[in-house]
Amino acid sequence: MGALTLKGMGLMHKTLWRASLAAIAFSLPPAAAFAQQIAPLPPPIASPQDLAYPAGPITLDVDATDTARHIFRVHEAIPVAAGQAVTLLYPRWLPGNHSPSGPIFQMTGLEVSANGQRLEWRRDTADVYALHIDAPPGVTALDLRFQYVSPTAAPQGRITMTDVMLDLQWNAVVLYPAGYYASRIRVIPSVKLPDGWTGYTALDGARPDGATTHYGETALDVLVDSPIYAGRYTKQVDLDPHGPAPVRLDVVADRPDQLVMSEAQIAAHRNLVTQAYRLYGSHHYDHYDFLFSLSDRMGGNGLEHHRSSEDGVQGDYFTSWDTYSSARDLLPHEYTHSWNGKYRRPFDLWTPNYNVPMQDTLLWVYEGQTQYWGYVLAARSGLHSRQQALDALALTAATYDARVGHDWRPLQDTTNDPIIAQRRPQGWRSWQRSEDYYSEGQLIWLDVDTLIRERTHGAKSLDDFARAFFGVHNGAFNEDTFTFDDVVAALNHVTPYDWAAFLRTRLDRRGQAPLDGLARGGYRLVYTEERSAFQRDAESHGKTADFMYSIGLSLGEGGVINQVQWDSPAFNQGMFVGANIIAVNGDAYSADGLRRAVTAAKTGHDPIELLVKNGDQYQTYALDYHGGLRFPHLQRLPGVPDRLGEIFSARAR
Ligand SMILES: [Zn+2]
Repeated sequence: MGALTLKGMGLMHKTLWRASLAAIAFSLPPAAAFAQQIAPLPPPIASPQDLAYPAGPITLDVDATDTARHIFRVHEAIPVAAGQAVTLLYPRWLPGNHSPSGPIFQMTGLEVSANGQRLEWRRDTADVYALHIDAPPGVTALDLRFQYVSPTAAPQGRITMTDVMLDLQWNAVVLYPAGYYASRIRVIPSVKLPDGWTGYTALDGARPDGATTHYGETALDVLVDSPIYAGRYTKQVDLDPHGPAPVRLDVVADRPDQLVMSEAQIAAHRNLVTQAYRLYGSHHYDHYDFLFSLSDRMGGNGLEHHRSSEDGVQGDYFTSWDTYSSARDLLPHEYTHSWNGKYRRPFDLWTPNYNVPMQDTLLWVYEGQTQYWGYVLAARSGLHSRQQALDALALTAATYDARVGHDWRPLQDTTNDPIIAQRRPQGWRSWQRSEDYYSEGQLIWLDVDTLIRERTHGAKSLDDFARAFFGVHNGAFNEDTFTFDDVVAALNHVTPYDWAAFLRTRLDRRGQAPLDGLARGGYRLVYTEERSAFQRDAESHGKTADFMYSIGLSLGEGGVINQVQWDSPAFNQGMFVGANIIAVNGDAYSADGLRRAVTAAKTGHDPIELLVKNGDQYQTYALDYHGGLRFPHLQRLPGVPDRLGEIFSARAR
């Protein structure tokens, strides 16, 4: 925050200020007159205790019918112990976000009353997510009314409500008492949906009453872990008709025609469940719901829960099946989290309630290995073809092979990024780095998997680790925390090796991406002038164009510059994110035109001329680049077993 300036102050104040300045010049007062004092912090908020909240269950009623204005209206009744001051918390540290991203700036209109009388609330000045309420003696219940004014436009946050669907995340619509584990606070929830809508959730005990659905009493942590997807156009598909627990695909769409799916598409999603069970040999839920939105209006999403996941893709997931393959690792990723992340959870990421800070040191397991199994299960289930799996891996490998941010920032430090950056847009991603523990973590686990396979001559693999580490205690529905040493011990149980040093080297070193798994998997990363079918489809569907490994640009629709590769030809000419390429060698920009220009420059000496618009400024950049187009592929290494092929093959049992 900037210092107070004279701008905006009255003329009299300015005059006085000048006068006092003159006084200072002639006679400085003693130093003590300007001494600062350190403000005392308010008393700390009560730490959560593993005790049942004694005053009884909270009643939480949400009216989600104002879809025109995207407003959720909340009525909450919180029983309290008579005569005691109450501190209520709005969830700040959100599981799955791994960050203090609770949308408190959108919690509005708070009115607190008791016995029909309005009470005042006061926000804690050190922890703005805590509200203090002085309840008069004799008060045994607080009556709260407030709104969650969810985003109406993308810059405010992810759109979670449209005229035909919504995503209700309970953490956004609840205040809860400080001092208790979330698992020890009971809640009786209900939601009112627009007429004719259908809602899906992992919550138990649904009891419809007109437009309102009441759910059974549950613990606050289960409630927050059980969002609702609802919509006007919906379809539910049973993904495991004869399995040990119901697994459902709960689809909400912008339009009814987007709900049409073929038998082959359904079969691939059913295979996902089968292949996950063959991998883990267990499940940690009594039922599971993929809450799946197909929408070009509600924001895309991927958020894991124990018995469900929030999955949001574009509206044509099923109807553009042949070209929209890039979205098909999402469900395998979020489903894997039921085992890795929700059931087995890093010890420093587990917190007793939503206002204790999380520590993210093990996200390279939580997200990195989930990213790995997400792509492997997509291939094993047939959601991706073998070639698509290889092409997707080539894109990941190329990204980290070129990530110059390695030079200053080890992968381990990127696990802090959900807290540092909270997914803000970046100017120089290849240099700043981002949440690289996802996909660089994926490469580490490929490194581990191929090493296990090599050392055991194919007898063991990372599948054995997954089964022994995540697959234990079939049916358990709790959180079982783990440490770095637990990971190392489980790997040593699969095959003895210095796994601690192996992992720490790849997490802590600078200057090198963990790409050994490719060669040990039987492939090498090469660049050609042709895009893979997977990349071509992803670019045409996303209206993007990738030149990161040639001139050093990644472009969005209409030539907007999304990324500039640090130290690339574009970087060296001063190009930056946010500007727009409007012409290439004098012709209006098109991705095809730029590809043709890069190819033509190979055989000539003229630079590639780009006319770029930034606000009301125009500038021409001349890129003296003659290396041609470069797109990543995996090429088979002769003489090495095709371990990647084995990894991507469906398990027969
Ligand atoms: Zn994830």
